[in-house]
Amino acid sequence: METLAAYKAHLREIGKLNSALTLLQWDQRTCLPPKGHEARAETIGKLAKIVFELGTADKLGRYLEKLEAEDDLSLEDRASVRVVGKDYRRHKAIPPSLFERFAVARSRSESAWEKARAASDFQSFQPHLEEIVDFARRFAEYYGYKENPYDALIEGFEPGMTGREVRGVMAPLRERLVPFLKQLLAEGARPDTSFLRGSFSADRQRALSLRALGAMGYDFAAGRLDTAVHPFTSSTGPNDVRVTTRFVENDLLSSLYSSLHEGGHALYDQGISPELQWTGLDEGASFGIHESQSRLWENMIGRSLPFWTFFRPILTQVFPELSSPSADALWRAVNVVEPSLIRVEADEVTYNLHIMLRFELEDGLINGKIAVADLPDLWRDAMGRYLGVTPTDDASGVLQDVHWSAGLFGYFPSYMLGNLYAAQLFATLQEETPDLDARIARGDFALLRGWLQDRVHHFGKVHEPKELVKRVTGKEPDSAYFLSYITRKYSEVYRLAERG
Ligand code: ZN
Repeated sequence: METLAAYKAHLREIGKLNSALTLLQWDQRTCLPPKGHEARAETIGKLAKIVFELGTADKLGRYLEKLEAEDDLSLEDRASVRVVGKDYRRHKAIPPSLFERFAVARSRSESAWEKARAASDFQSFQPHLEEIVDFARRFAEYYGYKENPYDALIEGFEPGMTGREVRGVMAPLRERLVPFLKQLLAEGARPDTSFLRGSFSADRQRALSLRALGAMGYDFAAGRLDTAVHPFTSSTGPNDVRVTTRFVENDLLSSLYSSLHEGGHALYDQGISPELQWTGLDEGASFGIHESQSRLWENMIGRSLPFWTFFRPILTQVFPELSSPSADALWRAVNVVEPSLIRVEADEVTYNLHIMLRFELEDGLINGKIAVADLPDLWRDAMGRYLGVTPTDDASGVLQDVHWSAGLFGYFPSYMLGNLYAAQLFATLQEETPDLDARIARGDFALLRGWLQDRVHHFGKVHEPKELVKRVTGKEPDSAYFLSYITRKYSEVYRLAERG
């Protein structure tokens, strides 16, 4: 089929340019010297413009139209046409002049947010955010939706998911988590974390991160570990997937857990079938599914007792001063629950409550039911109700996240969905692997990694997130798995059962 061949050749062009773009951005965030930033921004802008033009080329539109009418395409080719076609139409939906004005407003808004956060001054940011919300609402109209304009924005991060569905999986979380958190704090035995205080050199932290990544099966011949202020993972294809972490001298766990987290993202990208490279399917199924892989390694594995049984000797080899706490004590210490003001510092129990608050505010903003001016008060109120802590300034409240300043509405739900998907996938894995704990305790992650690769990683974007979860677990996404995981684990960590 000539059209299919021409279509694939066109996608390969885009894919190769995107690889170059990704590498330039990786370099920008890791080792670019300060004076190089200005010219680099221009280079990236130029390349991004070419990629955008290729992705919206009329030629591509004609290929898509023909291929969409074809009924003997392979599963992968059909998926590629679905994914690329959706992106093509979303890009085409926005009039170029509107998008250009948005790009200018966004860059002003991002720098206004940076200043506003530093000064904890919401009012100076408010007019910018109003403008950005207005753009987001107009984009939603152009993209189109059935029920809720917010759905059109969620679609950009979690294909096939709607606000109604997110609200559905979130409702049981709110009902159970808020009282469970109160019970933990009131009746539970808070783990001792005193032995984690100290000074830990970056070199030794790096050695520990390398051991953890190696144990997971991260392929160093197809990747590398560097440092970045905000850790991230960057992939130019399955054979070049780079992770970053950050070393904080008095906080040993921050670099270890960010390495496990980014390592989970990286295993996903390294595990995508090489045949999908440059077909539009060579990335994770969605933001939420990607986050499920990082959270699974970071929390379900990395914060489990079997993991600490395996990892304690490695820890004490690198940090002999930490040889007194047992595996059990370490396990409890890394699972301390602390309602805090800042989302990125939140533990497993409270994390989703931070997302719930953002989801409700976004839904209200996009539907015109909440005014930007009311956000700081609404934020404080919801923090009090969900977490029992209230920010005294906007820097640690409504101004803490970068997302809204950049117009990224609909992004937050994928963090929560990631936690839920992770618990659901992990429950299936446990059911199918009765000796999973014993394997983890002896540092044997091969079966786990293989399972994730066969069931999830391999497929890239071939399946939409809901369909993927159903294929692997037999059920629609359901928060029951996460709730049962959290209540069981933290009742044990906080010794609730023992206390009656
Ligand atoms: Zn992540």
